[in-house]
Amino acid sequence: MLTALQEANGFTPEDIASIIFTVTPDLRSAFPAQAARELGWTEVALLDAQEIPVEGALPRCIRVLILVNIDRPQKEIKHLYLEEAQKLRPDLAFSHRRLVVAIDGPAGSGKSTVARALARELGLRYIDTGAMYRALTLKILDLGLPLEDEEAITSVAEETRLEVLEREGKTRVILDGHDVTEDLRSPAVNAGVSLVAQYPGVRAKLVALQREMAAEGGVILDGRDIGSYVWPKADFKFYLSAAPEERARRRLKELLASGHEITLPEVQKQLAQRDSLDTRRAVAPLVAAPDAAVIDTSDLRPEEVLERLLGIIREEGNVRPD
Ligand code: C5P
Repeated sequence: MLTALQEANGFTPEDIASIIFTVTPDLRSAFPAQAARELGWTEVALLDAQEIPVEGALPRCIRVLILVNIDRPQKEIKHLYLEEAQKLRPDLAFSHRRLVVAIDGPAGSGKSTVARALARELGLRYIDTGAMYRALTLKILDLGLPLEDEEAITSVAEETRLEVLEREGKTRVILDGHDVTEDLRSPAVNAGVSLVAQYPGVRAKLVALQREMAAEGGVILDGRDIGSYVWPKADFKFYLSAAPEERARRRLKELLASGHEITLPEVQKQLAQRDSLDTRRAVAPLVAAPDAAVIDTSDLRPEEVLERLLGIIREEGNVRPD
């Protein structure tokens, strides 16, 4: 963040008179001034201070005020708002807030982990579009509709109210007014979602919502068809793949960690079924957009995948490193 502010405003460490950092009282172990020292800004006067508790204030927030000796009209000063803080002043924004990044790939390719980390790095919103298909599947299952009944499922999709929010890096889905986020990863939803997602009426409904979010900009969308169908004009498109055994191993770990009892062969079978439905469906199948950067994550740690993506974005897009 400090280097991004420096680059955006064109000052050098010598121009800085002092930096004041404040943290909200709910942050107990933050010494942001240390970051400035680590950048080698050792001659600068630094102050870390705790803010008074204010009801309704943004939680876990660090504010930074840099006092610099440069001749610059006030309106040219660039401010940086990251993550939740963007809501405070959506009008004061960096140009890369308008970016749209598409990350596609099959289940277990590491999309969501890297998309979340990338969103943090770039100060973008992160939206997991799979969660939207899962929410609708949950509703269909709760209604007891057969997953083969395309007509009934399509009309349920049309009348469903779906809101998608981001909170603390997680996509929360509000289905007909209820937050169903915690119910989206059950074995029943896993098994049914690709069947529901193949119906054109379902996709039309959810793709329209996804396009609204992409049109606002400043967002990373992860899914199956974002770069190829939902938003082909995304600024950056990535397609992550990984060997099926590795993807199954990752998914098994996640499922066991969240308390589901399942074996590796069962996970492998489910993933193979989902891959097959997702890649062979008639409308917007899982496919790498021709201009997507394809990355095989089988032998890469999440940090390494993130570095690759950031490298491509910075190189091609001339986006400032944060
Ligand atoms: O990403 P996740 O595994 O949560 O996605 C669940 C399912 O939702 C996928 O297997 C796919 O059938 C469907 N999906 C889709 N298009 C997207 C995102 C997800 O068809 N953009």
